[in-house]
Amino acid sequence: MQSIVVIGGGPGGYVAAIKAAQLGFKVTCVEKRGALGGTCLNVGCIPSKALLQASHEYVNAQKHFTKLGIRGGNGVSFSVPEIMKHKQGCVKASCDGIEHLFNKYNVTYVKGEGSLAGPHEVRVRSQAGDAKVMRADHIIIATGSDVFTLPSMPIDEKIVVSSTGALSFSEVPKRLVVVGAGVIGLELGSVWSRLGSQVSVVELTPNCLPEMDRELGNTLQRCLSRQGMKFHMQSLVTGIATNPAKGTAIVKFESKKGPTPKKDQVESLSDFMGEVPITSSPRGVQMEADKVLIAIGRAPFTKGLGLKELGIATDRRGFVQVDGRYRTSVPSVYAIGDAIPGPMLAHKAEEDGVACVEMIAKAPHAQPVDYSIIPGVVYTHPEVGSVGRSEEQLKKAGVAYRKGVFPFMANGRARANADTDGFVKVLADVRTDKILGVHTIGGVAGEAIAEGVVAMKAGWTAAQLGDCCHAHPTLSEAVKEAAMAAHHLPLHM
Ligand code: FAD
Repeated sequence: MQSIVVIGGGPGGYVAAIKAAQLGFKVTCVEKRGALGGTCLNVGCIPSKALLQASHEYVNAQKHFTKLGIRGGNGVSFSVPEIMKHKQGCVKASCDGIEHLFNKYNVTYVKGEGSLAGPHEVRVRSQAGDAKVMRADHIIIATGSDVFTLPSMPIDEKIVVSSTGALSFSEVPKRLVVVGAGVIGLELGSVWSRLGSQVSVVELTPNCLPEMDRELGNTLQRCLSRQGMKFHMQSLVTGIATNPAKGTAIVKFESKKGPTPKKDQVESLSDFMGEVPITSSPRGVQMEADKVLIAIGRAPFTKGLGLKELGIATDRRGFVQVDGRYRTSVPSVYAIGDAIPGPMLAHKAEEDGVACVEMIAKAPHAQPVDYSIIPGVVYTHPEVGSVGRSEEQLKKAGVAYRKGVFPFMANGRARANADTDGFVKVLADVRTDKILGVHTIGGVAGEAIAEGVVAMKAGWTAAQLGDCCHAHPTLSEAVKEAAMAAHHLPLHM
């Protein structure tokens, strides 16, 4: 029986371990956190969604239900400790579930920090400090990623926090500054904004969700602004100074919009920014906050693994370099998930884990994951879902496309839900009608996007998707209508 040691028990590592055990390997998974599930289950996807759901329901009860004739209103209240209890319950149940699966499939779970001691050796150091070396035919690096920050934004996890800190505030911060208008910043900004925090987002680029189709980010920014969040786009954070005695921070940022404002324009610049600056330079604004969330991205985590010593190559940003079979420059050592290039998402890591193990097992159907059809979802309200290429990417590549858009305002179910923000957009090749991208923002965009993934995986045309019968009344009828619009004409618009 061949053996595999997986270093890291996140969605990449634990899924690889289970799949390998199912395929008949003798498997060990080494995890240093003290719990399985990695970033995703412990301090990422699951806890953030628990907080998003709780805060969403609070806003529904407080504001939205009245649109449906139900009186909620100001009598509705919440308790941060109770919400955190709900979150911790979700995390524990999910992590325990993986331990159960490891037992079921005979995966050996070793608690400790793993490093490479040779092409077939993993050294494991336990928390108590003792070390042992394990031999394996194959080693999979699944050590994931960690918060990325810059020297100008030092994180103390008290006032200036990472996503991990923002998942565990003991009370609602009066003023929260979020640095970065990407997925994590907008999701966690939404949570605290819904619970009453004054949230200001500072973002360097002109658009929210800069990596997604521009219409999605622009629409989401409008919706979140209506919900009370403030946005300072094209603004560069130049420094953050904390005052631990007061429990506050001053965030300094500069507008990168247009020409440098003259001195006498400073007041109007700050007015425009919607904040009262404590002091201001011609281009600079200073904002006081009770908490600052740094959400400017994540970086691969490979510290202490011994990659260099073994001659395993990493790229400029620290991602482990692998070939199309997940092999590093040492043939018996593989890498998957956030530690390698590609979308830094839990479901991508899981797919990597399965594909990598199937390739090691030489399974007849084994193939690398097609990163071009990995969906991306933002769990704000409205949600955002996206798969395939954006309009900006298609234009840049010179691909001629047709665009079909269907707004939820024209969808009966969305009207019944009193939740009509957003649209579905289908992009199809002008010549072949093949679907090139599906982008949606709306109530349940995270669920609706799965249909786009399936259609693209099957290589469908917009006409084929538009031909499918969709149940009525559902929000997914908007997907059908957008596909019909991309091919020819929608029916209900
Ligand atoms: P990780 O989950 O980071 O797991 C790696 C594991 O390896 C960790 O547990 C770490 O302790 C362990 N490890 C590292 N080094 C060693 C070592 N030397 N020895 C032993 N163990 C080691 N993605 C989504 O798809 N959907 C979401 O909604 C979503 N929400 C997110 C929200 C937040 C706030 C954050 C921070 C991330 C979110 N993500 C989301 C991203 C997702 O969490 C990651 O893409 C995913 O966890 C990557 O999986 P992984 O297995 O590659 O790495």
